[in-house]
Amino acid sequence: MTNESIIKEASEHLPGGVNSPVRAFKAVGGKPISLVRGKGSKVWDADGREYIDFLCSWGPLILGHAHPEVVREAREVMEQGLSFGLTNPHEVRLAKIVTAKVPSIQKVRFVNSGTEATMSAVRLARGVTGRKLVVKFDGCYHGHYDSLLVSAGSGVATFGIPGTPGIPDEIASLTLVLPFNDIEAVKEAFSRHGEEIACVIVEPVAGNMGVVPPREGFLEFLREITRKNGSILIFDEVITGFRLSSGGAQQYFKVEPDITCLGKVLGGGMPVGAYGGSNEIMSRVAPEGEVYQAGTLSGNPVAMACGARTLEILMEEHPYATLDSKTAELTDGISSILKEKGIPHSINRVGSMFTLFFTGRKVTNYEDAKSSDTELFSRFFNALLKQGVLIPPSQFEAWFLSTAHTDEDVSSALERIGDAVREI
Ligand SMILES: *Cc1c(COP(=O)(O)O)cnc(C)c1O
Repeated sequence: MTNESIIKEASEHLPGGVNSPVRAFKAVGGKPISLVRGKGSKVWDADGREYIDFLCSWGPLILGHAHPEVVREAREVMEQGLSFGLTNPHEVRLAKIVTAKVPSIQKVRFVNSGTEATMSAVRLARGVTGRKLVVKFDGCYHGHYDSLLVSAGSGVATFGIPGTPGIPDEIASLTLVLPFNDIEAVKEAFSRHGEEIACVIVEPVAGNMGVVPPREGFLEFLREITRKNGSILIFDEVITGFRLSSGGAQQYFKVEPDITCLGKVLGGGMPVGAYGGSNEIMSRVAPEGEVYQAGTLSGNPVAMACGARTLEILMEEHPYATLDSKTAELTDGISSILKEKGIPHSINRVGSMFTLFFTGRKVTNYEDAKSSDTELFSRFFNALLKQGVLIPPSQFEAWFLSTAHTDEDVSSALERIGDAVREI
């Protein structure tokens, strides 16, 4: 089997040949590849080509591909059975780590994806407050739940679809979309609708319009205004949780939300999501409370064990400072290469996640992000792919480093990026 044969057959049996739109490489024009193996910082495609991987499965793989201890643990747990549908010890093990490490979480409910986490968090916020409106920010992505798939960044941005058919106006009209980092807009929304706003949901570091950090004071302001108005503050930490620090963005920025959504790193590569908060708020979730949410495969033992082992390794190694400096080395290097060539660009980085925007503007919100030269990005992406470096196939996504990325990977990537830039 080759890339070409797999992709061709995929297109006959899967819509667009994929199970998630951005995998079709439509935004970058090239031919999609099919990955068949990963080890550490490297992946291999079906043609046997090797790549240094900065996609890292879109964020979960903070320990790199197929970490031997995580794989060993998965194998051992699997031998005992794949699923029971009743409470298993690995759920408790993962829950204990989450509640110990994430500052605002005392109790947590596991689900199977980030989308389920945000969907359930919004339902809980509406259930607790008895209100309908949801405030979200332009360019923030919170999964594909109807109420949150309005102005949702990368996926839809990549395809130039303003929203999506299939979501009735009645539902979309319950979501207020405001510019990210805009305190005045939030004030205005609360002064008009304060008593109807169930929750404000935000990516504390936006990752889905490309990486955009919160402006100083923005998260603090959201904390204050939601508290004052009896609304729930939801941090969507599906990317940032266990990526920016052991306690996520809320620890990094020292602002605590009411509900936190987790995913990606939490499952260490398995399909896991979660939402959690104080004992009080989580006591409203069924069966303790009346807000219903359930899952046949939620808390799956193999997935829980993979997540738990991943987090245990993170807690033992505490790699965050090293990840930060290694990533800075890469972004500094990229910046000098582009400066030398006089190519306008702007890099936003927080810890081990970053985006290289091909724009001269400082990127503080989605409008800024959209000023990027996506055509140049496509050429850059494809030139890099040819050089054996895999980055996300869209301008509006985050690159990730893992603990498996060595200094050698960084310098080799920089060399290849230099070559790719010369080519474009
Ligand atoms: C990836 C992502 C989601 C959705 O998670 P899925 O597991 O893809 O459903 C939600 N929020 C943020 C911030 C994400 O990056």
